[in-house]
Amino acid sequence: MIHFKTKEEIELIRESSLIVSKCHAEVAKYIKPGVKTIELDKIAETFIRDNGGVPAFKGYNGFPYTLCISVNEGVVHGFPNNREIQDKDILSIDCGVKKNGFFGDSAFTFPIGDVDEIHLKLLRITLESLYLGIKAAVSGNRIGDIGFAIQKHTEVDNGYGVVKDLVGHGIGRSLHEDPQVPNYGKRGKGVMLKEGMVIAIEPMINLGTYKVKQLNDGWTIITGDGKASAHFEHTVAIGKQEAIILSDHNLIFDSINNNINIKKIQ
Ligand code: MG
Ligand code: MG
Repeated sequence: MIHFKTKEEIELIRESSLIVSKCHAEVAKYIKPGVKTIELDKIAETFIRDNGGVPAFKGYNGFPYTLCISVNEGVVHGFPNNREIQDKDILSIDCGVKKNGFFGDSAFTFPIGDVDEIHLKLLRITLESLYLGIKAAVSGNRIGDIGFAIQKHTEVDNGYGVVKDLVGHGIGRSLHEDPQVPNYGKRGKGVMLKEGMVIAIEPMINLGTYKVKQLNDGWTIITGDGKASAHFEHTVAIGKQEAIILSDHNLIFDSINNNINIKKIQ
């Protein structure tokens, strides 16, 4: 069942989503080779609580951390740990916040240092596909129009693998609500989009095969062939003429521009 939101509720989702984005921006200040990903998790948790939010992932179905940090072949749901960030890594960081009873959810993949050009391109195309998906998130379109836009740019035009086993989702009083938002689809198919719907659009795009596997920790998803994966996500309200992006990557770009250890994507 789809829960439609009032304007006031959408503003509360925006508030939570902006804490997520500010948290990404804060974490990005500390990203450099030698830093352990568990250290980033602590920075994120402190930041979220200092801003009156609650880390949405911590305790969700037993997930133990504030951030999902998925490195290189990691797709999503990776555990922050004692591994030190290395030059050329790509670091997917997913974060969720609950405040005033509403959730926000956003993800960003950071390229570290002298990252390989093929990985930088994977990130750029995946980020572009997110915004193409968002462009389709308008009233009167259907869920399939979003997935089609993402799949066309990533799989059809660039030969990447679109992860099928994991999808975007509605969001509001729950972290994951209906409808599901796949990163593949057919034009004009699926649930009709209407004002009042709020969804998380989150392309998970692999350099090689679209297939993924889960590690024995019961969470971490990695690519089936060990090649790299990228993940970008925004929380978005369906608009009449254009989608309303409730999270904000510009805050993250500001941090990237001030951190010589992170490569610029565009
Ligand atoms: Mg997320
Ligand atoms: Mg999500």
